Amino acid sequence: MVDLNGQYQDIKDQVNRAIANIMETTAFINGPEVHAFQTELEEYLGIRHVIPCANGTDALQIAMMGLGLKPGDEVITADFTFAATVEVIALLQLTPVLVDVDPDTFNIDLKAIEKAITPKTKAIVPVHLFGQCAPMEAILALAKKHGLYVIEDNAQAIGADYTFNDGSKKKAGTLGHVGCTSFFPSKNLGCYGDGGAIFTNDDELAHTLRGIVNHGMYERYHHDVVGVNSRLDSIQAAVLRAKLPKLDAYCNRRREAARKYSNAFTGQKNIIVPKTVNGCEGICDSCDCHVFHQYTLRITNGKRDALVKYLAEQGIPCGVYYPIPLHKQKAYADTRYQEAHFPVTNQLVNEVISLPMHTELDDEQIGFIAKKVIEFINS
Ligand SMILES: *Cc1c(COP(=O)(O)O)cnc(C)c1O
Repeated sequence: MVDLNGQYQDIKDQVNRAIANIMETTAFINGPEVHAFQTELEEYLGIRHVIPCANGTDALQIAMMGLGLKPGDEVITADFTFAATVEVIALLQLTPVLVDVDPDTFNIDLKAIEKAITPKTKAIVPVHLFGQCAPMEAILALAKKHGLYVIEDNAQAIGADYTFNDGSKKKAGTLGHVGCTSFFPSKNLGCYGDGGAIFTNDDELAHTLRGIVNHGMYERYHHDVVGVNSRLDSIQAAVLRAKLPKLDAYCNRRREAARKYSNAFTGQKNIIVPKTVNGCEGICDSCDCHVFHQYTLRITNGKRDALVKYLAEQGIPCGVYYPIPLHKQKAYADTRYQEAHFPVTNQLVNEVISLPMHTELDDEQIGFIAKKVIEFINS
């Protein structure tokens, strides 16, 4: 599904030198590499504050702690996402409110959010799934109207642009009150272990978050709030510093691969290719409308499971993200949920299949994979 060695070969000297230097200087935690990365990412994103932390799940948890969400507060998020998003809501004893998604983009459905808002709702967590932003302009307007926080789960869309109706653009993760990302190795900007970060333009919130990641300390051994221990290692920061200048090129490679896949699937009546809806028609050359963390097809003739098996037999990796809606997971079941509220998620879990997607795919591989998929679906 992913090939990370090509990227490493390209940045090997820089990464190895930086890691050797960390070994010599023993600045393993909160070293200069972490501070430099923080500043470089702030510049790249055009945001006032980046707060590095240990992983993307922590980033979401710390964001919710920093906003002062309290047990019983309702937090609306998508039924069709990785469990981390809802896990931290539940862990903090907030009440997760799962809602359905849009069949074209796989992202949270605006109307479903609107219907789910109650007097207890405190926040919305849009997940920019598979590399494309949720409908943020409308979500931000809705949140403003109801006085809600917007926490972006940007684990899959770092580097993506969001285009507003007036044509202006902002980077994914910088649109809401706070944005969260993951540097897990297979993410679009991945380190060589775990890592994550929180973004905000709010100076006061940034200060709060910097304390929470470090045991609630704002002054050494003075613990003002209950915090956690969540830090980005210097070694991971060094890897990320080598990769950040290449992130746009990485995104272009992914988009290029996505375009080639979609061209190969043109005219296939049982296959729906991913749609790009924000700012661009199709998969464009000129902007980061979609950064294709995953390239995800919908197989509409009931042969998805058989295709997964067939591709495995052919030695072609594939993935089903995600096979079970969160509202059907034991940990997150809730008597308030009705199946009629989740028609799209319930359908997508049976139709989606993600094909290999990374920066090292060549034309031959893409052509071979597409040919095998098409042959099998029409057989
Ligand atoms: C990967 C991911 C996370 C969690 O990130 P970790 O760094 O693995 O904790 C959260 N949300 C989404 C949508 C993800 O894809």
